[in-house]
Amino acid sequence: MTKTEQDPRLLTPGPLTTTARTKEAMLHDWGSRDQKFININKRVRERLLEIAGVSDTHECVPMQGSGTFVVEATLGTLLSRDGKTLVVINGAYGTRMTHMLDKMGRSYVTYETAENEPPNPDDIDKLLTDDDAIDFVTIVHCETTAGILNPIEAVAQVIAKHKRNLIIDSMSAFGAIPLDPAQTPYAAIVFSANKCFEGVPGLGFSIIRRDILEGAAGNAHSLSLDLHDQWKALEAGGQYRFTPPVQVICAFEQALDQFDAEGGVAGRNKRYADNCRILLDGLREMGFKTLLSDNLQAPIIVSVHMPADPKFIFKDFYDAMEKKGFVLYPGKLTIADTFRVGCIGALDENDMNAALSAMRQTLKDMGVKSGAPARV
Ligand SMILES: *Cc1c(COP(=O)(O)O)cnc(C)c1O
Repeated sequence: MTKTEQDPRLLTPGPLTTTARTKEAMLHDWGSRDQKFININKRVRERLLEIAGVSDTHECVPMQGSGTFVVEATLGTLLSRDGKTLVVINGAYGTRMTHMLDKMGRSYVTYETAENEPPNPDDIDKLLTDDDAIDFVTIVHCETTAGILNPIEAVAQVIAKHKRNLIIDSMSAFGAIPLDPAQTPYAAIVFSANKCFEGVPGLGFSIIRRDILEGAAGNAHSLSLDLHDQWKALEAGGQYRFTPPVQVICAFEQALDQFDAEGGVAGRNKRYADNCRILLDGLREMGFKTLLSDNLQAPIIVSVHMPADPKFIFKDFYDAMEKKGFVLYPGKLTIADTFRVGCIGALDENDMNAALSAMRQTLKDMGVKSGAPARV
């Protein structure tokens, strides 16, 4: 990978390591009304619809800000003020959606499973059968909290059967986990520039079914987060309503070129799956135990139980790894004491093997014989 050599390798779920080409695309100034820039925006939106396979039915609306901004914009724009949402939760990002709905004052119910447990489509079926008032369901595709891959297709089919609308937070999956819109119908799917597309942060996208977007005028609780108005402005004049992150968008187009060159979703999925396999094997060789069984593990980020060895102090391990040029990710789980290691970004098998060597050396220097946890 042609990353910038002196930068650390980010074993995190984003922002993550980007290529030199992607960063170099930012070395220019563009006026937001520049026709070349307007064309870039148009192309980027069209390309994302093609990647999703929904050019005929959906619209792609960008939103400035981090991923959370576009999730909040999507909920605020699509949920009607007197509607009711079922929020499917198995981690921090599902919970965050309830915080958004609290702020907006929209009514919702939750269905929650543990962070290492996928939602059961039969439970969702029952919840929808029992409550006609629920018009939208939200779910996180890969719950980055534990790194679990949720059964999005089975859930989407239940929701379609009940003729309700599905909003998918696919922030850490879209672009790297295949998703067939015929099997997984959705009202909206949401993602950002700086995860599986390996762009720089500051930009998110919501791909929304056209009829639902058209009907969403006036729903939004917020001026800047109104995706209906953002869409109308882009359609009318090709421009964002408020200052667009021009360099971020130009870097994103460059990142999309590299995405295509790698073979699109299939190519990216393969590299991440290879990275993840190497990481899992290497961690287990050192005695570490991962939180998730392999059938639940998305090839995005791995949660690792804290070792039992009293000589293992996570902060020291983290700092030593950082000195060696690798940035780990602390845990965020409520069910277990863990740390996390990401395998996405402009990293390949050489980077994963180098990270594992650095971990082996660090454990040795710390006098830790095994990464095994106390008991799980
Ligand atoms: C990263 C992420 C988000 C957005 O986080 P930001 O810090 O706002 O970019 C939302 N949902 C999921 C599942 C994520 O992984």
